[in-house]
Amino acid sequence: MSDILPEDIRYWRRLEQIAEKTFLTHGFEQIRIPLLEKTEVFTRAIGSATDVVAKEMYSFEDRKGTSLSLRPEGTAGVVRAALQNSLLYGPVNRLWYSGPMFRYERPQKGRSRQFHQLGAELFGAAGPDADAEIIALGSRLWSNLGLEGLRLELNSLGNADERQDYRVRLQGFLQAHRHELDDETNERAERNPLRVLDSKNPQVRDLLTEAPLLRDQLGTASRQHYDQLKAYLDRLGIEYHENPRLVRGLDYYCHTVFEWITDELGAQGTVCAGGRYDNLVELQGGKPWPGIGFAMGEERLVELLRKKDDIVPPIVHAYLIAVGENSTESALELAYDLRASVPGLQLLNNLNGGSFKAQFKRADRSGAMLGLVLGENEISGGQVTVKFLRQDAEQLKLDRSETTDWLRGYIDSI
Ligand code: ATP
Ligand code: MG
Repeated sequence: MSDILPEDIRYWRRLEQIAEKTFLTHGFEQIRIPLLEKTEVFTRAIGSATDVVAKEMYSFEDRKGTSLSLRPEGTAGVVRAALQNSLLYGPVNRLWYSGPMFRYERPQKGRSRQFHQLGAELFGAAGPDADAEIIALGSRLWSNLGLEGLRLELNSLGNADERQDYRVRLQGFLQAHRHELDDETNERAERNPLRVLDSKNPQVRDLLTEAPLLRDQLGTASRQHYDQLKAYLDRLGIEYHENPRLVRGLDYYCHTVFEWITDELGAQGTVCAGGRYDNLVELQGGKPWPGIGFAMGEERLVELLRKKDDIVPPIVHAYLIAVGENSTESALELAYDLRASVPGLQLLNNLNGGSFKAQFKRADRSGAMLGLVLGENEISGGQVTVKFLRQDAEQLKLDRSETTDWLRGYIDSI
């Protein structure tokens, strides 16, 4: 679990501000859900045979013996909240969320135990137009963030029956090859064979090139849904790569699944993953209601923004230096007034006293553009001296009454 330090905050803010704006322009409204849920919210939704539930959840009992878990993802909780607050079963609704998620994983580059997701969910539309809409939202977000070269991978998981038939066929194939597979893969083949398709083990991946494909198991309706989605994406000019072995780690997905992947981050290159989950609302105890959504890994997107490195750190405009009798109260008052009267002014007030020399040193280290100086003469004469710390220009002496306007002009000019 990492700390996010001040030097990185500008990337996080850029990501979150642009995401929020993009969600808003696509009609998505924010929802904030708790970090803790009853464990059953996740076991019901995600499935107890998945890695997330079987191995990765932080679960504990509260004082009354109820099992609670830190949320490992957002969708299950959003569905729980939407059901409890009667947000479903009307017109289409679009929700987004963000915040920390917790999974007990092996920490490595791009994978941590507390990480952050930004996610979108669209309820009440079962057609491929909704799938196209949610993929287009992702595509627009990348362009708004200035991120290029993200590859969209696409697959269809069909409906529950088709997936069940395929599960049996795939299990048969894996069993026939069990001597060529490691123990972990054989165990997965028993519990959750689709997840074997997601294996990162090269030997397993090699073998999988001969495995049966879910695509060949799809019935007419599922195939039509998938083909129509591809036609819509073609029309929008959104490039995609079909990956017949793409599955999701969570059980609740059906039909469309997709990932956005970058080559710039090494092995953990998936920055966004999503898909359709028409059975999830029912799993959470509601009447069936269709849904589709995605979740983005914020750490990975921040890493991409940091690599681009085109977000400038905020500018400190002025450092207020004050020396002499009564200078502390004069400086506090001046800073308090200027911060109110000069929009956007970033001003540091000197603390801990010190000589002129010491204060100028601190002003320099702070990166401030200007030193605003209050000495005894300035205080008695109602004036402020402005020194330019980063450019070769003569210092100015301003009347206190001119200072606000002068600083406004200065901020506009840089
Ligand atoms: P994987 O197979 O790589 O474990 P997953 O199926 O568990 O992926 P999702 O649950 O779909 O991942 O999560 C969506 C996105 O959230 C991922 O694509 C990734 O960007 C991010 N993510 C997931 N787990 C982590 C983690 N432990 N640390 C950082 N980011 C994560
Ligand atoms: Mg995972």
